[in-house]
Amino acid sequence: MMRIIDGIPDLRAWRRSVRGTVGIVPTMGALHAGHLRLVETARAENDHVLVTIFVNPTQFTADEDFERYPRNLEGDLRLLEAERVDCVFTPTPEVMYPPGFQTAVTVETVSQGLEGERRPGHFRGVATVVAKLFNLTQPDIAYFGQKDAQQVVVIRRMARDLDFPLEIAVIPTVRESDGLALSSRNTYLTPEQRADAASIYRGLRAAADIHDSGERRPEILVDVVRRSIIGGETEYVALNHPSDLRPITERTDSPLLLSLTVRYGSTRLLDNLLLPAKLNTREGLTAHLGAPTP
Ligand code: AMP
Repeated sequence: MMRIIDGIPDLRAWRRSVRGTVGIVPTMGALHAGHLRLVETARAENDHVLVTIFVNPTQFTADEDFERYPRNLEGDLRLLEAERVDCVFTPTPEVMYPPGFQTAVTVETVSQGLEGERRPGHFRGVATVVAKLFNLTQPDIAYFGQKDAQQVVVIRRMARDLDFPLEIAVIPTVRESDGLALSSRNTYLTPEQRADAASIYRGLRAAADIHDSGERRPEILVDVVRRSIIGGETEYVALNHPSDLRPITERTDSPLLLSLTVRYGSTRLLDNLLLPAKLNTREGLTAHLGAPTP
């Protein structure tokens, strides 16, 4: 039987009661096949699988979609039951942030560029809630998606700096057949926006192709992506070192994180690839994204 728990004492009791390894998959619900890939991987690699569903208010900026973020708890629980998940933690904001709450985890430099620059406070909210979930559930392996690459770098940095005794697994982005990365926010798109949004992955692939052919000029790699985007408004296309997110300004043969955000109406879509493209595997992502500094 899958346990569904919404309180902290029950969660701690569940954790104390299980023997063997625990894998955690933190989510905001509205589950799709991308989330389920993380869950399946956790199921294959752990004795116990815990999924958390929490739309975390502190990681939304004031002008973002916290209120209208898609929620579908019934449907999510059915999917997780079918994946043979052991425990689902579904706290309310009041459980996670009771009156008087005033502590936060700030991961400095790697939180600042890219999404952090456009979403002030976002990674502070993410790092704080993930630190709480790690403390509450003491997992052996935590599963995160490549799609939120900066999040992976931030969480790995936090786990190392604060000595969380766990492994961070990075799972490659799951895509629709036309390449669009699965996202709970895709449901906001009109049919026309949805069709145009496939240009995001086409742009990333075009850059990967010329990189494979030897192109190393950062401005050319970025420009190929920009020129591929149809319909939406490109917020940024960026090249960074995948280990610590330093911006790339010179030609280099070292691995690159190519990431972008495109706005279709009020919907921001985020995507990325590692270059060279052969690195977009669990092994490649784990070795390079937020890799330990030597
Ligand atoms: P979210 O519910 O959006 O916070 O996502 C929960 C986890 O699922 C995060 O680690 C995401 O990076 C991951 N995720 C979201 N979309 C995808 C996708 N298309 N492929 C793989 N992982 C994903």
